[in-house]
Amino acid sequence: MAYESKLALGLVPYTAGEQPKDRKFIKLNTNENPYPPSPRVEEALKGKIELLRLYPDTDATELREAVAERFCVQPENVFCGNGSDEVLAFAFAAFFAGKKVYAPDISYSFYPVYASLFGAHLQQIPVLSDFSVDVGGLMQDGPVVLANPNAPTSLELDTDTIRRLADHTREQEEILLVDEAYADFAKESAVPLTKEYENLLIVRTFSKSHSLAGLRVGYAIGSPRLSQALRCIRDSFNSYPTDRLAQSAAAASMRDAAYTQECIRKIICAREKTKKGLREAGIEVLESATNFLFVRADPIDAGPIQKALRDRGILVRYFGTEKLKPYLRVSIGTQEDMEFVTKTMIEIIRQKQS
Ligand code: PMP
Repeated sequence: MAYESKLALGLVPYTAGEQPKDRKFIKLNTNENPYPPSPRVEEALKGKIELLRLYPDTDATELREAVAERFCVQPENVFCGNGSDEVLAFAFAAFFAGKKVYAPDISYSFYPVYASLFGAHLQQIPVLSDFSVDVGGLMQDGPVVLANPNAPTSLELDTDTIRRLADHTREQEEILLVDEAYADFAKESAVPLTKEYENLLIVRTFSKSHSLAGLRVGYAIGSPRLSQALRCIRDSFNSYPTDRLAQSAAAASMRDAAYTQECIRKIICAREKTKKGLREAGIEVLESATNFLFVRADPIDAGPIQKALRDRGILVRYFGTEKLKPYLRVSIGTQEDMEFVTKTMIEIIRQKQS
């Protein structure tokens, strides 16, 4: 007999990127934002401590209103959770449990974990040789989940393609779940399509473009029917997933669009410069619609390059799986940090080649 359930024994959990405590790094391994959150966040938290004796608003009304205003939808189209990871987990439980669900094989590595946790059968469709999503391959007989832009490849699909997927899944009477964790750094978002497609759920986060990874707030936008299913799962798990401070802080950040836009602008600018610098040195870098770059750092295995970067005080993400071995995922930091990172990467890669 084991203390653990069969479920617990059978899970292979997600491995998060390292959060070092021992020394200071240029930390580019978890796609965090290098800039501080909006100053309005601190203002919004003033005087809120006293209220912590009371449970928060289970429906995060103020926050849902702020999100709805920003995306020109209604509050009943919005659902909030403890990070988009939790919203995604609730969505897997609400829409995929016991079903076959299609996803690209290279995508956010939490999807297979949620699938096994909630008894969904994830059918992974190989990406094409240029790492782009095989859209036709996803159009089968079940619901679809994908990150757009995708991670860790940083590539985006345009809205017309998302529309095609939404059409196909609607014909199957199934859900299309689009994880837009990085969409604020991309050209387009599919949120406007949620008005046309009752089966389309978009999941987004405050962790990247709003510099609030430590706050843990994510949200979904979709039809009231989909929000209702998410609420049903939430209330079967934890009625208060977002706390009082998180709701106030996230709402204040959402209302400070100018600040967020300026951070996004600086990150995109540093991303393009870094991409150019690396490419000019002959290093292969994919196009990016995110706050990170997917870099082919070695023809065979980028593991030693990740280690060498770590020794020089730079943390990046190495996945080490069969298809991803030659690659590193490098989050975009400040312009100044990225100049140092570009120079150091080129040096290390050249040394290894010689
Ligand atoms: N989706 C994708 C594609 C991600 O890369 C991440 C960040 N690891 C998340 C969702 C989760 O973000 P969070 O839980 O911080 O909102």
